[in-house]
Amino acid sequence: MNLPHPTGLHHLTAIATDAQSNIDFYAGLLGLRLVKNTVNFDDPSAYHLYYGDEHGTPGSIVTFFYWPGATRGQVGSGQVTAITLAAPAAALDFWRERLERHGVTVTPRHRFGEDVLAFSDPDGIPLEIVGVAADPRPGWTGAGISPAHAIHGLHTAELTVREAGPTEDLLTTVMGWSLVRRDAHRARFTAGAGGPGHFVDVIADPSAPRGTGGAGTVHHLAFRVPDDGAELAMQGRIADAGYHVSDVRDRDYFRSIYYRERGGILFEIATDTPGFAVDEAVTALGQTLQLPRQFRSARSRIEALLPSLRAARRYSP
Ligand code: ZN
Repeated sequence: MNLPHPTGLHHLTAIATDAQSNIDFYAGLLGLRLVKNTVNFDDPSAYHLYYGDEHGTPGSIVTFFYWPGATRGQVGSGQVTAITLAAPAAALDFWRERLERHGVTVTPRHRFGEDVLAFSDPDGIPLEIVGVAADPRPGWTGAGISPAHAIHGLHTAELTVREAGPTEDLLTTVMGWSLVRRDAHRARFTAGAGGPGHFVDVIADPSAPRGTGGAGTVHHLAFRVPDDGAELAMQGRIADAGYHVSDVRDRDYFRSIYYRERGGILFEIATDTPGFAVDEAVTALGQTLQLPRQFRSARSRIEALLPSLRAARRYSP
């Protein structure tokens, strides 16, 4: 039976402290497109910003909640432990030079045949750029970064757990993904034909510090499904497997269900539909504050609570 299952990564959401320095870093230095400027559904006094490619394609998306003055979390087991992005392999020298010139410390790595640059964002969130030979996804060039260098979107979601068995079983059964490689404590899983944006790595590390939520950590990982029918099929399958899965939440740009896997990581399954152009034109994505429906009548009060934001700082190439 060919049941619907998540076809790739949809987004990662992390916790930062300051929206302006976050915009300067992700949209300015890394050159991602700010595709949605909105507020937290549970707290409209705080921004929720989404970055991605030109259209905000699922698999290109990184989003942030802002908790000003929040206690710094601990990156560790039971979390997504890096935001891992893909760029052309020939662009890694460009990225290393650009990051270092702007004061970012870069550590080169090599993993599964690909070169990797590891660094951190201003909140200490671990980031990586993986140099990939083939990735058909176009990068956003509106921030002044050439197509030969631009970041394409997510490469992998890296999960760290103390005991890998239950997380790996979930991925290969309920989620329908396949093991593609295993190297010491890291196992890579993929959906369908794979490729960047379709990888989950599970790291088994019994000695890792236990992750605690807070600024500087990834909050959750969202997988993508095409539509509401696939979402409901997954909801039933996850519940049948004994997980507590949420009802369907309308996030305006996608519809989502949530559950916590056995290693402690919050998983979301989000639909590709309707997408980020549902409330503003593709050419204007991210340029004005868009409010969830339930908050639209309170726009002036919400705007008064939010700090003002400037366009991303422009960095020299
Ligand atoms: Zn999410």
